[in-house]
Amino acid sequence: MEEGRKRQVSKERAEELKGRIEDFLEARKRIPKGMDMEEEFVKRKNKILKVLNATEENWNDYHWQLTHKISDINTLSEIIPLNETEKMRIKKVEKKYRWAVSPYYLSLADPHDNYDPIRLLSIPTHKELEDPCLDLDPMGEEYTNPAGCITRRYPDRLIINVTNECAMYCRHCQRRRNIGEEDVHRSREMILESIEYIRENEEIRDVLITGGDALCLSDEDLEWMIKQLKEISHIDYIRLGTRSLVTMPQRITDQLCSMLRKYHPIYINTHFNHPIEITKASKAACEKLADSGIVLGNQAVLLNGINNNKYIMRVLNHELLKCRVRPYYIFHAKHVQGTAHFNTSIEDGIEIMEYLRGYTSGMAIPTFIVNAPKGQGKTPIFPNYIVSRGPGYVQLRTWEGNMVKYEDHETKDIRKCLE
Ligand SMILES: *Cc1c(COP(=O)(O)O)cnc(C)c1O
Repeated sequence: MEEGRKRQVSKERAEELKGRIEDFLEARKRIPKGMDMEEEFVKRKNKILKVLNATEENWNDYHWQLTHKISDINTLSEIIPLNETEKMRIKKVEKKYRWAVSPYYLSLADPHDNYDPIRLLSIPTHKELEDPCLDLDPMGEEYTNPAGCITRRYPDRLIINVTNECAMYCRHCQRRRNIGEEDVHRSREMILESIEYIRENEEIRDVLITGGDALCLSDEDLEWMIKQLKEISHIDYIRLGTRSLVTMPQRITDQLCSMLRKYHPIYINTHFNHPIEITKASKAACEKLADSGIVLGNQAVLLNGINNNKYIMRVLNHELLKCRVRPYYIFHAKHVQGTAHFNTSIEDGIEIMEYLRGYTSGMAIPTFIVNAPKGQGKTPIFPNYIVSRGPGYVQLRTWEGNMVKYEDHETKDIRKCLE
């Protein structure tokens, strides 16, 4: 092909590609992002400080955030107007399921929108009482606990559950049976028993400290644990599971960062679900951890009315990458009692994945996971890209939906090839 013609073909293809993203560019304009709402957040913060009779200094102190979680209807209704029906409904739900929200996280909620994502994620609704037939532990976590406070479902890695405490009790929490009536950290004996199990099982190379929220532990308690784990020669690295970056970014202090950086490699997985949650404060917390050499990942949960939308998920993943957080998983919401209204079809997740691959950077594409019942493990779900197979070929579907026949050769022994 002559040069001018090649350029012409390339230009036509570029136009076609522009057409593939037009709908997203239009939709993106209407998706609220925390980074654009700072002014509004400051106003709401000042309102909450007034209601709680507190100072800016209090606000920036995570101990204050943790000890001043809002968990009574009267205080809540001074911040978010509630009518009598709403109050009565919360009163009913709280008899069965505890709720509490850090002042910071509540400042992200629009007080005048009943369908505000932050509000749906943190304030109980009557829907939580409408599915009493569902299981509270569909994952059978109670049956995958070989020692201490360990959950083990895989050959080479396991979880240590260190606390049931969180800065905010997600209304979609899959472990709501553990929230109970009060916050309790696991005893040192229980943790020691867990560490002992890891020491005795040398195939374990990856330990995930979570809860609850691992960062609800003090720096001292965390360091006490991490230090002992690091001394076990078969442990390659430690991961922390925490939602503090989202619900209480004040937790990411200089002291925490300088403690963690002594024990590299440390990985942190967090849980952003909506672009509103990515604020100036949470971005600063992510950057601080990243600057300390910690690799950050995000585990979102696919939730009805929050993020079961191909455009919202794409924006979320872009916003995460801007904060140096790599999208890791999107979990299909399990069928846990009290959370059925958040459940989506599997198809919603497949559609989201369909409109990520090709349309945006591979960096912005997490894996969509369905957790198999009874702790049988994470099961990845993909749109179908292999349409059919035959002798010596596979029929593939490209991200744009073109069908292509792709030659498929048998693998030959490398020694034979080189003979
Ligand atoms: C999710 C999970 C892990 C970690 O799984 P990865 O796919 O490695 O992130 C480990 N143990 C248990 C019990 C889990 O549920």
